[in-house]
Amino acid sequence: MNPLRVTIWHEYRHEHHNDEVAAIYPDGMHRALAAGLAPHGFDIKTATLDEPEHGLTQEVLDDTDVLTWWGHMAHAEVSDEIVERVQERVLNGMGLIVLHSGHLSKIFCRLMGTGCMLKWREADEKERIWVVDPTHPICAGLPEMIEIPEAEMYGEHFDIPPPDTLVFVSWFEGGEVFRSGCCYQRGQGKVFYFRPGHETYPIYHMPVVHQVIANAINWARPLGNPPMVRGNIPEFMR
Ligand code: ZN
Repeated sequence: MNPLRVTIWHEYRHEHHNDEVAAIYPDGMHRALAAGLAPHGFDIKTATLDEPEHGLTQEVLDDTDVLTWWGHMAHAEVSDEIVERVQERVLNGMGLIVLHSGHLSKIFCRLMGTGCMLKWREADEKERIWVVDPTHPICAGLPEMIEIPEAEMYGEHFDIPPPDTLVFVSWFEGGEVFRSGCCYQRGQGKVFYFRPGHETYPIYHMPVVHQVIANAINWARPLGNPPMVRGNIPEFMR
């Protein structure tokens, strides 16, 4: 079987504006993720906001089985035309993994149809991510709890539709809890939201986080089915 074709999309702005972030991710968060996911056997490419068409030409998307998305400070700069193009690919089977502050990205909000806002606080809090669906493929090979030593807090209420499957719930030192691993199906595509990944912590250097994202990529892979036929079909099926 050919390796899954993964495109890691990254806004790639904080690294240029914040020395602390640049020190943690000197080559950009997308390259740290690409390096962490490489041992999992994917065919990995990266794309960033400032490339022509945000690096997401129709050709790139057509050659992508699963797209990962990290954005934060420049959600509004993502063109609606590209968002529509990504949505179309998801509805036709491409997997989408939305990471951390991607909860407010145009593509995630559009696919969810809700506000997608949450509570947040930057106070170097410990996070415990608890597996709540141990039978789910995204939890394969994981311990029952993943501890992130220092994280940005995200708290409920998180304004999303109820997930088709909830696989992780996070607890934070300050007392809040959060639905941090949420699975959806949209059209023929699968969408996974995964919470960890604030830019001022080295979270995307953690092998257990790579394992979760790799599991999610494998789960979200297209099944290769032909497009569904919709609309008026006057001919009888015989
Ligand atoms: Zn953040």
